[in-house]
Amino acid sequence: MTRAGLLGDLIACLGQAHVLTGADAEPYLTDWRQAVTGRALAVLRPADSDEVARVMRVCAAAGVPVVPQGGNTGQVAAATPDASASAVVLSLLRMNRVRAVDLDNDTITVEAGCVLQAVQEAAAQAGRLFPLSLGAEGSCTIGGNLATNAGGTQVLRYGNARELALGLEVVTPQGRIWHGLRGLRKDNTGYDLRDVYIGSEGTLGIITAAVLKLFPLPRTQRTALLAVPGLPQALQLLQRARAGFGAGLTAFEVMSLACLQDVTRAFPQQRLPFAELPEGAWCALLEISDSEDEQHAQERLEAVLSAAMEAGEALDAAVSVSGAQSAAFWHLRESITLALARAEACVKHDISLPASRIPDFVRCTDEALAAAYPGVAMRVFGHLGDGNLHYNLLPPAGAPQADIQRLVHDRVHEAGGSISAEQGIGQRRVQDLQRYKSEVELDLMRRIKQALDPQGLMNPGKVLPASPAGALP
Ligand code: FAD
Ligand code: ZN
Repeated sequence: MTRAGLLGDLIACLGQAHVLTGADAEPYLTDWRQAVTGRALAVLRPADSDEVARVMRVCAAAGVPVVPQGGNTGQVAAATPDASASAVVLSLLRMNRVRAVDLDNDTITVEAGCVLQAVQEAAAQAGRLFPLSLGAEGSCTIGGNLATNAGGTQVLRYGNARELALGLEVVTPQGRIWHGLRGLRKDNTGYDLRDVYIGSEGTLGIITAAVLKLFPLPRTQRTALLAVPGLPQALQLLQRARAGFGAGLTAFEVMSLACLQDVTRAFPQQRLPFAELPEGAWCALLEISDSEDEQHAQERLEAVLSAAMEAGEALDAAVSVSGAQSAAFWHLRESITLALARAEACVKHDISLPASRIPDFVRCTDEALAAAYPGVAMRVFGHLGDGNLHYNLLPPAGAPQADIQRLVHDRVHEAGGSISAEQGIGQRRVQDLQRYKSEVELDLMRRIKQALDPQGLMNPGKVLPASPAGALP
């Protein structure tokens, strides 16, 4: 089929206004980090699941690859097409309706293009909490969150995106619609297809809607920012907070002082609430959610914090006394990614390990990096409660990024960890996956891909290496 013929068929599905080419398509073709720019036949903006299905049938018939895209905030260039201009980008952003709220079942049913923050707001309006929360929540979409199994800051208490989804609606690469929008908390009727699509980064099908879990809104929330001498003490503090708050501990984040200094330098209106801290210090951000009144939350927090200070786990502590102050603490944490984006070169790793191994891992890997690349500067932060660190660094000029990543990932692998805790594989980590996954695991993954997408048209070259159409990748 000619390009003009294909565009004609796509326009027949969506209307001229929603098949973008040329300059109109450009904003969709570069990844969030602005490191990868691809080309596309067109950018498609369907309005509903039927339109998605029609488009998929046209693409399957013509053998055209499809790259799904939500808010395009992903960190591994998974929503960016390759340079061949042979694929279409399928943007879900127009599919942004809340389809239903079921308060007795504590669920909300939303379309894939709903922005995460809009879902949080819709839940709050209904008197419920939708707990998924991450720095990109103002622009990332539920479809993208599910396709990457996003984590964020509330995983400790509520789990990853996977744990928050009860059912999905999916359009297959052949253009069939799987109506799996079941709001069931128990359903053992065979293979769990929902879990196959969650985390598959658009390589198996298009998620068009989801049923999500809702929770009671906490009556009170308190946030504390603590200065801690180092990661071993931060880990002890985490244990103390877990014991003291139980399920009331909804977040526990760590940030090295160097990261926070980058934030206050890049955004001078932001401040650290501590005077002088020793070099090498870290900060921990704790959030507790309480079903009782403010005084109860305050007393519990103070009891745990003063015990932590006495035990030498904390050097200093600042407790939020208002929502605005709590937001300011979170803003510090969430600005780290943006501050680092301004650095000339930042080598990023999104790793997870059993939390117990993190202090040793960081100490030994910092030392190995300093020995191999004198002048390297560490910029580490993350979700200690989940054993997940953004183990980032600023390399000395000329240091080869691939070698640095190999050193870090080899050590993560040796320690039994994961080289992608929450951001996915995309196109950035395809070779790493081949290196670190066992042959059995890779073979099973290839067979799933082959079974669900035999033409190899869904987001080719992401997660698994691209393969000729029809062949096993
Ligand atoms: P996109 O970037 O558009 O796409 C991501 C992947 O999902 C691609 O493979 C794409 O093809 C696929 N996809 C998108 N929509 C669909 C769909 N409907 N059906 C099938 N496939 C689809 N991540 C975390 O896990 N935790 C964090 O704390 C975190 N913090 C972040 C902070 C910042 C400032 C930024 C910019 C990003 C952060 N991220 C974090 C990255 C995170 O993965 C994304 O922000 C988000 O989950 C992706 O959603 P999106 O809609 O932007 O997806
Ligand atoms: Zn993160």
